[in-house]
Amino acid sequence: MEDCIFCKIVRGEIPAKKVLETDEVLAFDDINPAAPVHVVVVPKKHIATHNDAADEDKRHLGALHLAAKRVAASKGLSRDGYRAVINTLPGAGQVVFHVHMHVIGGRSLGWPPG
Ligand code: 5GP
Ligand code: ZN
Repeated sequence: MEDCIFCKIVRGEIPAKKVLETDEVLAFDDINPAAPVHVVVVPKKHIATHNDAADEDKRHLGALHLAAKRVAASKGLSRDGYRAVINTLPGAGQVVFHVHMHVIGGRSLGWPPG
């Protein structure tokens, strides 16, 4: 998608601090971190929201989960824990309309979230 910020990061048109890249996904540090570790994992395919994921997107969504696990491990969170979150629509705080998983950790995380 032409104007999508995360598509621009995937295409290398906007710089980002890459954490992990595979054929299907890109993970990079969040520009406005909510915790000591805050990585955003995006499918390279543009899918606007979790609601828009289709059956044929299984591979992309599965890749998000497995990349989040690898990111957490690479950031040293496998033992103490982390949160993997997909905000869907503005009511849940989604501001970038390219589906993404936040991987957050490195501090104690409260529940329920705000
Ligand atoms: P959302 O609120 O849509 O679930 O999360 C979007 C996230 O993307 C936010 O945490 C925000 O800080 C991050 N973000 C927005 N624009 C950029 C950017 O240009 N670069 C990076 N690295 N992160 C961004
Ligand atoms: Zn996009």
